[in-house]
Amino acid sequence: MKMFDISGKVALVTGGNGGIGLAMALGVASCGANVAIAGRNAEKAVSALEALRALGVEAEFIAADVTKKADCQRMVAETEARFGRLDILVNNAGTSIRKMPQDYSEDEWHQVLDTNLTSAFLCSQAAYAAMKKAGGGKMINIGSMMSLFGAPYATPYAASKGGIVQMTKCLATAWAKDNIQVNAVLPGWIDTELTQRARSQVDGLQASVEKRTPAGRWGAPPDMSGVAAFLATPASDFVTGTAIPVDGGFSIAM
Ligand code: NDP
Repeated sequence: MKMFDISGKVALVTGGNGGIGLAMALGVASCGANVAIAGRNAEKAVSALEALRALGVEAEFIAADVTKKADCQRMVAETEARFGRLDILVNNAGTSIRKMPQDYSEDEWHQVLDTNLTSAFLCSQAAYAAMKKAGGGKMINIGSMMSLFGAPYATPYAASKGGIVQMTKCLATAWAKDNIQVNAVLPGWIDTELTQRARSQVDGLQASVEKRTPAGRWGAPPDMSGVAAFLATPASDFVTGTAIPVDGGFSIAM
């Protein structure tokens, strides 16, 4: 079906070497796009690249730290140099530091905000010219249930993920006339390295998520692939500025 065909297009996925980022990269690759995945850990990227290439697309790893503006710009430039264009950007790299609000240092606050929110802004800024040149594009930002809810242990994380939703709306309004759609995805609780750490730090999290989620389970990374395919392809050409929960119903249950 042409609606989901993006053969010949090129995607850049930050944090695409594992977890949700790799699942999103696989979703986009399964629609035919070539993919650059960016992150700090090249070792983790080896199996990610194998999985992507097994889908018959070209895939490359770009070593980059998204908290550095120069790396955000270089990532985009390297993607264009390697693949000749950039059509899809997934701002997925993220981190969390879990503490009570009174216990954060200023550096810890900045580390979370820089990784989750400022990086997404800088990468989007860097990608804009390339997408405009290509005649349009797709930006997909990763929010969280913490874009909607609060928790005692998540002050900088929730601030960053709430910011992702508002930033998405602003970029969507600014760049709609350039045929660039900007949307956010709000994953529920997905089993990744990030949440394995959370489960060891937050008492009872495993069971409370199962109980609260109408689907009755944690999400797995492949649960995130379909929404990436939708938001990266012409199927979503009139969808912009939204924040789509992919959460087994977590955010709509009493
Ligand atoms: P992981 O810890 O598995 O993945 C995080 C990814 O981000 C890694 O690939 C990591 O790569 C990359 N990354 C982190 N910091 C940097 C940095 N400074 N520069 C470049 N890359 C970086 O976690 P998830 O897959 O769970 O998280 C992915 C996104 O999804 C995050 O934005 C997270 O907040 C969000 N999310 C996750 C949920 C979940 O339940 N798992 C729920 C809601 C949102 P490397 O280590 O190589 O740098």
